[in-house]
Amino acid sequence: MFADVSFPISSYQIFSYKIPKSLSGKVAVGMRVKAMFGRRKAQGIVVKIKKISEFKGHIRPIESLVDDQPVLDPTLWKLINWLAEYYYTPLGIAAKTALPSNLSTRYKPKVQMMVKATGRKSELPKQAKAQSAIVHHLQNQESFVSVNSLNEFSSNPANVCRKLIEKNLIEMKEKPIIPDLTEFSFKPIHKKIRFTDFQNQAINKICERLDKNQFNPFLLHGVTGSGKTEIYIEAVRHTLDQNKTVIILLPEISLTPQIAGRFQAVFGDAVALWHSKLSQSARAWVWKRICAGYYKVVIGARSAIFTPLKDLGLIVVDEEQESSYKQDSRDPRYHARDVSLMRGKIHNAVVVLASATPSLESYYNHIKGKFEYIHLPERFGGAKYPSVHIVDLIKESEKTKIYGSLFSKILLGKIAERIEKKEQVILLHNRRGFAPVLRCMDCGEVEMCPNCNVALAYHRIGEYIQCHFCNHIEKQIPSKCKECRSFDIQLAGAGTQKVEDQLTQQFPNAQIERLDQDTAKSGVNITNVLQKFSDRKIDILLGTQMIAKGLDFANVTLVGIINGDTGLYIPDFRAGERVFQLIYQSAGRSGRGHIPGEVVIQTYNPGNPVIQCAAQLELKKYYDICLNERKALDYPPFSWMIRLEISGKNKNAVERATKILREKLGNPPKGIGFLGPAFCYREKLYNHYRMQIVIKSQKKIDPNGYKLHQFCKNIIYNGDALKLPGNIRLIVDVNPVSLL
Ligand SMILES: [Zn+2]
Ligand SMILES: [Zn+2]
Repeated sequence: MFADVSFPISSYQIFSYKIPKSLSGKVAVGMRVKAMFGRRKAQGIVVKIKKISEFKGHIRPIESLVDDQPVLDPTLWKLINWLAEYYYTPLGIAAKTALPSNLSTRYKPKVQMMVKATGRKSELPKQAKAQSAIVHHLQNQESFVSVNSLNEFSSNPANVCRKLIEKNLIEMKEKPIIPDLTEFSFKPIHKKIRFTDFQNQAINKICERLDKNQFNPFLLHGVTGSGKTEIYIEAVRHTLDQNKTVIILLPEISLTPQIAGRFQAVFGDAVALWHSKLSQSARAWVWKRICAGYYKVVIGARSAIFTPLKDLGLIVVDEEQESSYKQDSRDPRYHARDVSLMRGKIHNAVVVLASATPSLESYYNHIKGKFEYIHLPERFGGAKYPSVHIVDLIKESEKTKIYGSLFSKILLGKIAERIEKKEQVILLHNRRGFAPVLRCMDCGEVEMCPNCNVALAYHRIGEYIQCHFCNHIEKQIPSKCKECRSFDIQLAGAGTQKVEDQLTQQFPNAQIERLDQDTAKSGVNITNVLQKFSDRKIDILLGTQMIAKGLDFANVTLVGIINGDTGLYIPDFRAGERVFQLIYQSAGRSGRGHIPGEVVIQTYNPGNPVIQCAAQLELKKYYDICLNERKALDYPPFSWMIRLEISGKNKNAVERATKILREKLGNPPKGIGFLGPAFCYREKLYNHYRMQIVIKSQKKIDPNGYKLHQFCKNIIYNGDALKLPGNIRLIVDVNPVSLL
């Protein structure tokens, strides 16, 4: 017998090995094996088992097995195959993306001792006060509680519990502690939630489809604060009752501890969290527990879509428009939303894509009848929508004669009001650092990153300038211009640190906290800040897009957007959609309790349709405008796109290779067209020059994108057709989220 093995290398080739007698009958598809690959021993994954090999040369044997059983089941294997093919990635690399890298480690998590009353009548001597108190307490608990939580009854509860176990009054079990990222779990909510009619309809619709056991994609479009999490919980309950499992995807799990906490509160031990902060060995352990069926619900960021749940019944993609679902930095450049739909198809599962601001793609799929649509047009618990004010910053400075101030009078007034009333404020400013640019005032030269075609941002805290792409840092702030040697170098623009600075001057007695990538990194725990904010120990929470979504605090009655125009003029076809979603979502953080909320948007472009529609909370109006624009230009969702990026350290070589590639592409068939070749907007990143050719295929001619894929495959998989020099890299980006 022979086995075809794929290795995590950037070649599409698969290699044949002999299965030695000692392993006969033990090797299966989806198992990892060790074998000689060239001159070294390497780990690969078995993709096929066959009786005869067509390879005529010397065939080497498989040396050993890494796993004693497949680490994937056939459904997941099917998904990985699709992933490899759809995203032009060698199978070995696609498999490596899906699997945790260190599955064979013997990781044992710490355990927590849990106790519960046995229900036996207790007859304890009078002097055993601690024992009586603990038994009494446990008798009033529904389920196991941790021994550590009993320290109010005794200084050594473990000791007391041991005695109670001897008397058979309580029982004990060990519970493994999966490394939690938050410790922000909310207490179990036992009160009955009264759903709105819209929520009830949504739950019924999803449960009806769950009962049918067939692939059914939904777009759950619920305004901010409409109680989508409650709907997920009911849908999960229904799925578990059917003895099936669930994946919940969240864009950034550490920013949405409330949702994760709620699930853990309701479903307890059945829930596993899957996120990047888990150590490799912890991941391996969780993976194996999922394989063994311990966990029924997995909550996590994009890679959670590959977790090996069996009998998957439901996938929820929360905030489905988020670009963090796209793996952008390496192959396969997959989009977890699209992978969810494929996995749902394979498992005959229900897929719920949910958002207050759906991606234009999903919105269009609903219009075209491809997704079933559920609308939640009103807020939960009787909360009202906030009222929104647009502040024209040009008019403002003409009136006040104060130029370059970050805060308008109206915003300052409203913040002061909130502080007075002990209500809370969220301020959004989507740019970190102190000043995004260092500019020479004589010749206009901007201090650039040596590796990237990007300006270096000044960070006052820690005193350095940094590239926000490659993270290049310079501790020496230049005192004179490199071009004209002038000493007149000034900081231009404002980042969150500067906003914080001015805010502190304006409100010296207010508690202000900043959340952006810098504070998140420098050890200020995101969860701590959110907990403090939840406990109302912070008056003003300032941050980048990190704070725009998912946060649900009833006492926030004012959201201020310092500069609504940020990102509006980036030359990308999704720029407007992104800014709209950001403003709309941020506005949604205001007035979620019974106190009505307000939103202030500061802008230099009050007439811009993005700002206008976001301020009026007119989603449909803006999406219609946006769809018309995209239609006129044949951009997604009216076309399929594949972006070919050619990069390398030598600019001329990149240009030459791009020219060759363009020639190879030749004349495209009808309905397919090219953008470029051209240098990317970010021409140089990480010391590599970048050019791109974007291939577009009109959906009206190519409804499923097959034509486009056929066309590209002929070029990319045909080794002879495409011979690029070794110092040139080709990236194939299917359905790119941006063209920068
Ligand atoms: Zn200069
Ligand atoms: Zn850089």
